[in-house]
Amino acid sequence: MNLLTVENLHARYGHAEVLHGIDFRVPAGEVTVVLGANGAGKTTILRSICQMVRTSGCIRLDGRDITGMRTDRIARLGVAHVPQGRGTFGTLTVEENLRVGGFTTSAAITDRAVEHWYDFFPRLRERRNQQAGGLSGGEQQMLAIARALVAGPRLLLLDEPSLGLAPRITQEVFRALGRISQETETTILVVEQNAHLALEIGTSAVLVDAGRVVAQRPAAGLAHDESVRRAYLGY
Ligand code: ATP
Repeated sequence: MNLLTVENLHARYGHAEVLHGIDFRVPAGEVTVVLGANGAGKTTILRSICQMVRTSGCIRLDGRDITGMRTDRIARLGVAHVPQGRGTFGTLTVEENLRVGGFTTSAAITDRAVEHWYDFFPRLRERRNQQAGGLSGGEQQMLAIARALVAGPRLLLLDEPSLGLAPRITQEVFRALGRISQETETTILVVEQNAHLALEIGTSAVLVDAGRVVAQRPAAGLAHDESVRRAYLGY
């Protein structure tokens, strides 16, 4: 079953169209990876799902048309977005950041969710009273992910979680995402330059080139396909 289906999606900034009628699907409970060169339109795909850019076409979440819906309503329907650069609040504490993530639910549910994600990311519990701006890059990325999960989303959108992180830390982030996918029912759609790591936890990849989806392929074996490797994996 697909949690999200995208049909004939166009998106534009002002008069400039950057997505030219794309189709893809995000199977429920799986990790789907979006691959493409710089400027291909990957970030715009995530922004389109949250209706943060002007779109036309059809985006369905669990069969329901969310095209044109307000961004906050889409969040309430269970879509959480971790943008590039993470979007954590540097002057708020770790705990305050996590509580922001619970804005769509009651205080009691938020309390439980925050404790649950502290168990999952023990380093965040250790740093609960510290300002988020003082955390390392990896810790900030974990915080951004945990904050998104506090709301108990059905669909988690992640934009380049490895950006600016050392390889070892990037591995840790992807290991955490793999566990989240296995241990919860969260469906993940992730844009990532580090295709290798992303394909390890992904079940399919959406290949994007110049605002068009070239193909959606199973992740297994993709890293060994020479044409894909040259065009999308950069080696
Ligand atoms: P990157 O890997 O560099 O983040 P991307 O694949 O995520 O690239 P997008 O950020 O979606 O690509 O950008 C797609 C196109 O839209 C690019 O040509 C970019 O210059 C343009 N674009 C992005 N944001 C805006 C904006 N706010 N206003 C106008 N054009 C934009």
